[in-house]
Amino acid sequence: MASTSAYSYLHKSPQDVLNDIDFQLTLEPALLTKLTKAFLEEINVGLGRYGEDMAMVPSFVTGVPDGSETGTFLALDLGGTNLRVCEVVLNGDKTFRLRQQKYKVSDQLKTGEATVLFDYLADSVDAFLTTHPPESPLSPDAEVPDVLPLGLTFSFPVEQTALGSGTILTWTKGFSAKNAIGNDVVKLLQDAFDRKHMHVKCVALVNDTVGALLSRAYTSGGCILGAIFGTGTNGAYLEEVAKIPKLANNPAAAKGGYMVVNTEWGAFNNKRTQLPFTPFDSVLDRTSINPRFQAFEKFISGMYLGEITRHVLLSLIDAAPRPMLFGGKATKVVNEQWGLDTSVMSEVEEAWETRVVEEKEKVIKEVDPNGTEPRSFPGEIGENPNLWDGDDHDILPRWDILSTPEGLAQLSLKVKGKLERVRKVLVSRLEYADGDVSLRDAAIVRWACHLVARRAALLSGVAVAAILLQTGRAGFVQDVHSDSSLNTPNDVPKVNGANGIHVTDSVTNGTSKNAAKEEFEEKIGVGVDGSLIQFYPHFERTMRESLRSIVGADVERRVEIGLAKDGSGVGAALCALQALKQEP
Ligand code: ADP
Ligand code: MG
Repeated sequence: MASTSAYSYLHKSPQDVLNDIDFQLTLEPALLTKLTKAFLEEINVGLGRYGEDMAMVPSFVTGVPDGSETGTFLALDLGGTNLRVCEVVLNGDKTFRLRQQKYKVSDQLKTGEATVLFDYLADSVDAFLTTHPPESPLSPDAEVPDVLPLGLTFSFPVEQTALGSGTILTWTKGFSAKNAIGNDVVKLLQDAFDRKHMHVKCVALVNDTVGALLSRAYTSGGCILGAIFGTGTNGAYLEEVAKIPKLANNPAAAKGGYMVVNTEWGAFNNKRTQLPFTPFDSVLDRTSINPRFQAFEKFISGMYLGEITRHVLLSLIDAAPRPMLFGGKATKVVNEQWGLDTSVMSEVEEAWETRVVEEKEKVIKEVDPNGTEPRSFPGEIGENPNLWDGDDHDILPRWDILSTPEGLAQLSLKVKGKLERVRKVLVSRLEYADGDVSLRDAAIVRWACHLVARRAALLSGVAVAAILLQTGRAGFVQDVHSDSSLNTPNDVPKVNGANGIHVTDSVTNGTSKNAAKEEFEEKIGVGVDGSLIQFYPHFERTMRESLRSIVGADVERRVEIGLAKDGSGVGAALCALQALKQEP
């Protein structure tokens, strides 16, 4: 796939080209706040009407578990890279037992006939039951004991009409199976079970975000938001039914209370009026199978970050009049659409970071076995301490220094060591010949990965901040100046009642200081899942940086981000349990 964003820098220096890219991919704090405001608007538009970009899907789950739930359930998880079948045993003491098997979903299945895809799902459950016959008696609540209750985690936009039914709105994440959109996904699956005469009944339909929220609530005793940062990105949170006007005549509206809402935030700003698009984002979008959809997701999630980075690299490989990267050479990995996986970026960033600490510790141990005397690592302070060090605020590669033997000779040993490790990762993961990758190339690729991933993590913070604001748990930090730094962790937030929400102001509310303090110290549980947040170096740290700049350090500090372990399986089980309880 050819790049359409190659740089021509006839009237610029190579350094200017790098500066340009750096500028385009860097987000200012003021933009984060502006995006959060737009996000809140879309949340409320989606709660008000059906058919909006951000679908704000009511899940018909009306509360979150507390860890005391029990039972055995099957769970099927379709939503991205893998298909999983599991058996979940809820022990009722915040713990669970889970047996699972993963199955591959081929591109052919993803894009073929829906019935073929759903037959494959049924076959996978059948295969699982053959290899993992149920150990414990199935849910005591099941009315027909020889039918196994199953919860389906289906991580695509669905307009849910009840706990056990919902219409597929659109495919995302590389799926496009025919004759599925507009149909009830539970019925599609149940029909496949019935065609095979299997004794399995799909009783609940659950989005993976809802699953993450429920499972985190089950294991930790409380949670307000479940968020996914994996192949795609999305979040579900606990909303007041009174704030979901579109439920209007649904019996659920009359009951009041709370309901879990699946935001489908991947579609935030599909109108493209606010998000900071670059040519790299536009080429990715145009060549994706769902152009103009999932605008927000395409900035953030694992499926796309590698591809954005690939376009940045290609623009430099193809730069004219002279290539600026890899001597103009492109490998198959770099040439092919989706060729560069986001995990390569993780590896590049890890290569920069790790082992330095170990090496440093080793040297300190050798010199000072008791480790008492603070000392610097040889080479940590280079011949010129003001020279480019590639860390934190100095990661933009310095073309002059990295392009000449004299420049390179001035770099500290530490920096050279890091660059060499990155270089090795590029040789192996991008499949270059050793001689084709220079230390300058290493510095450029690592910088590009960092920019793309940092932008993703900051935007992820926008989504989390918007939910904190929507649920009255935070206010905007006042007076955001465009020059305020993202790196001031100790700024005291002054909160105001944003979005009609009353927010206690701990700074001015002197009379009830203790009560206010208590409220301010209460933890805000957020359950997360997905390879990106689990494995990408510093993803959570950067997301928190974003939260601080939008809602302030006091609120950010209280946000407890925890892994929703096996969220889709346990969440589906918890939903199936709720469905059985609701059965007339
Ligand atoms: P899913 O979202 O399908 O349930 P995951 O949460 O495992 O699955 O996310 C898969 C996505 O995460 C893929 O797009 C992949 O590129 C990306 N990924 C896998 N490993 C890593 C890693 N170590 N660091 C960052 N991203 C990763
Ligand atoms: Mg997942």
